[in-house]
Amino acid sequence: MAVPILAYHQIAVPPSRKAPFRSMVVHPEAFHRQMEWLKRLGIQGLSLREALPYITGAKAGKVAAITFDDSYLNVYENALPVLQEFGFTATNFVVVNQIGGGNTWDAPLGVAPAPCMSIEQLRRWSSLGHEVGSHTLDHVHLPQLPMEEARRQISHSRGLLEDLLDEGVSSFCFPYGDETPLDRVLTYEAGYNAATTTRRGRARPSDDPFGLPRVTVRRNDSWLHFVRKCVFG
Ligand SMILES: [Zn+2]
Repeated sequence: MAVPILAYHQIAVPPSRKAPFRSMVVHPEAFHRQMEWLKRLGIQGLSLREALPYITGAKAGKVAAITFDDSYLNVYENALPVLQEFGFTATNFVVVNQIGGGNTWDAPLGVAPAPCMSIEQLRRWSSLGHEVGSHTLDHVHLPQLPMEEARRQISHSRGLLEDLLDEGVSSFCFPYGDETPLDRVLTYEAGYNAATTTRRGRARPSDDPFGLPRVTVRRNDSWLHFVRKCVFG
C-alpha cells in the first residue's frame, strides 16, 4: 500500500499577507484538525523510521509518515503536544549547524527569521519516541557543491547528531529537494536507511528509499485537500 509522507515546515500563526513562503506556515489549529482527520480515517501517524517497513512492503497497515523540515521551535511548541495527544510519532529534519539558531539560509529569500530547536528540545523530542533526522549541516544545495563537501554535509551531520543525541540517526532530507544520483549514493554510503525529496506523491515499494516522494501540506489546504493528499498523494 502506498504511504503518504507528509511534509510540514512551520506550525504557527501565518505571517502577514505577501510574506515569502507564507504557504509553508500551517496554523496550529489546522494542524490539530489534520491529525484528527488521520485518526478518523484510521491512519496511524508515524516517524519516517517507523513508517519505512510499510513503505517497503515489509509491513501492512494504514499509516502516514509525518515529517517536519528545518527543526523550527514552533514545531516543538505547537506540533509536539498535538502529536502526543493523538499518540503519533514524527520525524524532525535538523540543520545541524543551526541547532539553537535560526533559518539563516532563508534570509536571502526574504523569509522572516524563525528560531530552531535547541539541543535540549531535540533531546526531549527524541526521548518521547520521535525521530531526529539530518537536513545537512548548513541547509545547502547539494548538487552545487564539490563531492567532498557534499559528502561532509551528508555524513558529518549524521555523526554530530548521533553524538549529541546518543542514538542512531537513519533518515535524511535533501534541502530544497535538490539531489542527484550521486547525492543518493553519498546518503546511502553515510549509513542512512532513507532519504526524502520534494518529488510529489505517495511512497511505494518500487520507490528508491533514498529518493522518497512526499506530499507537502500548505497553509491554505482545506480538509478535503488534506484528506485527498493522504489518500491519493
Ligand atoms: Zn529545509
